[in-house]
Amino acid sequence: MEIRINQGILALVEGDITKEETDAIVNAANSRLMGGAGVDGAIHRAGGPSIMDECRKIGGCPTGQAVITTAGNLKAEHVIHTVGPIYQGGTKGEADLLRSAYLSSLKLAAARGLKSIAFPAISTGVYSYPLAEAAHIALKTAVDYLREHTDIKAIRFVLFDRRTYDAFAAELKKLV
Ligand code: ADP
Repeated sequence: MEIRINQGILALVEGDITKEETDAIVNAANSRLMGGAGVDGAIHRAGGPSIMDECRKIGGCPTGQAVITTAGNLKAEHVIHTVGPIYQGGTKGEADLLRSAYLSSLKLAAARGLKSIAFPAISTGVYSYPLAEAAHIALKTAVDYLREHTDIKAIRFVLFDRRTYDAFAAELKKLV
């Protein structure tokens, strides 16, 4: 599913983010940038050890913020590592932190002059964020960004399974 918003394209695809050819792919990292399961493990495995070397030098990243490294062996040029919130019932500021993870990544990409970016469904795996709510926040942040800025031309959500893709597609239809 693909829609034009202002001067940009917002796309939803089912797939593996490590195969993306966007200027940057986004990693759902943890705050120590120390690697883990899920999409983080997949990115470090596919990209090779240089990404972790850079993460180690950076040292960490607070929840809701983002840092950038090169992308090792991946086709993308950069990996933006952002840290989504661990879902703890929804009363611990999770929604604001999840929005901030997406927005910080978009702003960092734009500040580096990058034109295309691919996101996974941040916080919806090990961090247990309810899928429909997470999809709404992710897409609203992306749609608003494209409406308000013209620097980034393509935002892709690369969703690892059909259930996640379907949840994002349902939320996008409600939003636009
Ligand atoms: P978090 O800790 O932020 O919840 P996870 O990596 O556990 O991060 O999960 C986030 C999402 O990334 C989940 O929907 C998971 O299925 C998905 N995912 C796992 N591997 C990949 C991959 N290679 N490409 C895209 N998405 C992936």
